[in-house]
Amino acid sequence: MTSALLPTYARAPLAFARGEGAWLVAEDGERYLDFGAGIAVNALGHAHPHLVAALTEQAGKLWHVSNLFQIPEGERLGRRLVEASFADVAFFCNSGAEANEAAIKVARKYHAAGGNPERYRIVTFAGAFHGRTLATLAAGGQQKYIEGFGPKVEGFDQVQVGDFDALEAVIGPETAALMIEPIQGEGGVRVIQPAELRRYREICDHHGLMLIMDEVQTGLGRTGRLFAHEWSGVTPDILSAAKGIGGGFPLGACLATAEAARGMTAGSHGTTFGGNPLAMAVGNAVLDVVLADGFLDRVARTGLLLKQKLAALRDRHPHVFKEIRGEGLMIGLALGVPNTDFAAAARAAHLLVIPAGDNVVRLLPPLIVDAPEIDAAVQRLEAAASGFEALRGAAE
Ligand SMILES: *Cc1c(COP(=O)(O)O)cnc(C)c1O
Repeated sequence: MTSALLPTYARAPLAFARGEGAWLVAEDGERYLDFGAGIAVNALGHAHPHLVAALTEQAGKLWHVSNLFQIPEGERLGRRLVEASFADVAFFCNSGAEANEAAIKVARKYHAAGGNPERYRIVTFAGAFHGRTLATLAAGGQQKYIEGFGPKVEGFDQVQVGDFDALEAVIGPETAALMIEPIQGEGGVRVIQPAELRRYREICDHHGLMLIMDEVQTGLGRTGRLFAHEWSGVTPDILSAAKGIGGGFPLGACLATAEAARGMTAGSHGTTFGGNPLAMAVGNAVLDVVLADGFLDRVARTGLLLKQKLAALRDRHPHVFKEIRGEGLMIGLALGVPNTDFAAAARAAHLLVIPAGDNVVRLLPPLIVDAPEIDAAVQRLEAAASGFEALRGAAE
């Protein structure tokens, strides 16, 4: 039967009936080790008891009231996020793209409120991904996503990561902000080195620009810190988060310093669903776990363990695995074989991984993954790689 859904996705021929921790169970009962976590969304794995309890308890009380009223659960989540980060204020929405739209608006309004409404241009980086709304597509700058949707939204200039001459050249009197992912996710797990991030911070300070960090994928513990920029010692003025922040419930957030948010007054931005009691209850439950003593250290340690095992695997299969990149539990394997073929081979070995740009597959396991599951994943990667080695042997 043909699908009644808009065919915008090339879906794998596989549907899941339920999940437990790092495992997904298909409709036919087969168990898959989930090292994609719904693209870094299921931060605490599937059916985490604390999240299930928070969601079901709130579902029986109150789902939605609109932002016309006080939402105590949202006040609490905002307070906890700002106390754990560089920020002073938070805005809640429903997705990463919306969090970035908010970030862009905050940055532009900052300058308008300071008497410089002409400063609206945002500098972004080649290989970036910021979402699929018209403005965030223009920010990401990927031609294949922009074509056919009318004129590209104005006000975004793009440079290569690390090309500081080009960056200085593109910054002008209309520039408002610089927007960057500390680790490019969709672009292929390309880590921006801490020294580079520090230099971007200096350049922003020098030119009076807002530094926006898109931590939609890197945030909420993924790299072993609450936010990935913490590894560099520099802080942004504005940050977007989403993916893991709701543990699978649609939730996004834009965090900012009070200074950066000076232009955002009543009526300047809004959303109907954003920050509703149901989302806020789940967001608070995610933070209960992620901010608990030792949780983030454990993520960092598990990430190191995974990296060590992958280094040994690469040595055994140098034609399949070219490079291991990333931080914590956000790992990219740059491949010598086509990444979509490799992801299919891993799936056949009952391991789920996610293709990214630069011929990379991403390993984004739930943050609760344990050492035996890391071993099982590496064995399955080995099985997938061996299939390619066998093909290569036959061709020689
Ligand atoms: C996924 C992602 C987005 C977009 O998030 P959506 O929830 O799909 O809108 C934006 N930025 C980064 C870095 C992402 O990884």
